[in-house]
Formats: sequence, C-alpha cells, structure tokens
Amino acid sequence: MNVQEIDPDTLQVNQGNITPSYCFECEFDGYFPLNFFKVKPNIETETQMKEASIYFEAHFGFQIYRSLCSGDNSIVAASKCPKCGSRDLGMKSTKSW
Ligand SMILES: [Zn+2]
Repeated sequence: MNVQEIDPDTLQVNQGNITPSYCFECEFDGYFPLNFFKVKPNIETETQMKEASIYFEAHFGFQIYRSLCSGDNSIVAASKCPKCGSRDLGMKSTKSW
C-alpha cells in the first residue's frame, strides 16, 4: 500500500461534511482535525477498506473516517480524538458510522 499525506488545502472537499463530531470514548464533541492521505491502489472493496483501516491504525494511529475515490487512487480522511486520542469516533446524532 502506497500512502502519502496530502495538504488539505489542495483538496476540493468540504471538510464540514465529513468531520467526525463525537468521541465514544470520552464524549468529546468539539472540533476533530482531519488528516488527508492519498492511497494507492484504490480502496474499492470491503476487504481493501479493512486492510487500509488496519494499516492506518498501526502506522498513523488514525481511524479512517471517509474514503473517496479519485482517479486511480483514493483520498482518505483520517482522524482521532484530539482530547483522548481514541479512534472510536462517529457522528453524534446517529452514534454510528
Ligand atoms: Zn475522546
């Protein structure tokens, strides 16, 4: 897996729509900073997503929050709780992914 961190300013992404808003660990519900990565090959299947999740957890300590296909690679938004470092994050309203 080829992973490269990218500058969010270069992305045409409305971050407000994809930011986690709740930490299930410590109940933090403030601002969650996102890190963006370019991943090759594309994350297309459930299995690849699972592999990528394990990779990010192990190498970066991030939870993959959202992955978007972009040509022949995927743009991955990853985050962790800024307060406690937990990767158990979600949207407050639904409490699920
Ligand atoms: Zn937390």
